[in-house]
Amino acid sequence: MTENPRFIVDHNVGKLAKWLRMMGYDTLFFSGDNDSRMIALARKEDRVILTKDTQIMKRRLVTNGQIKTILIKDDKPEMQMHQVITTLNLDPHFRPFSICLECNQPLLERGKPQVKDLVPPYVFQTQSQYMECPACHRIYWRGTHWQAMTKKLKGFMSNSTER
Ligand SMILES: [Zn+2]
Repeated sequence: MTENPRFIVDHNVGKLAKWLRMMGYDTLFFSGDNDSRMIALARKEDRVILTKDTQIMKRRLVTNGQIKTILIKDDKPEMQMHQVITTLNLDPHFRPFSICLECNQPLLERGKPQVKDLVPPYVFQTQSQYMECPACHRIYWRGTHWQAMTKKLKGFMSNSTER
């Protein structure tokens, strides 16, 4: 496996997109139902397909190994993440806080003065590190939401029966 895998997430396991972006892995969300398009995209951009669709596993490019695909077994997003992380031996602390959770764009560092009018006053007083998405201009900081997500990511690595 490459050290820095990129992903394409089928809509039937859509929650995985946010978690993988959270870890810093470049992840496309595929909302359509045209399997051929998704497979073509995976091949063109060298992405690992994550899906619950058993039909995709029968595609020629998948069976002959040209496209790496993981068939997700569980319905629970937590268990799905556990499967992806353990199958590919992913690092949950790969590059946290580096990709927009909504757009999959690499975030840019922003200085405190640049975000003064863009974040709530309480956040501005307590946080010193900010990142901005160049596409949607959403500002990220290491607040409580981010900490909760990081904690959850660590949980995916430990006992899989833990919720
Ligand atoms: Zn964005």
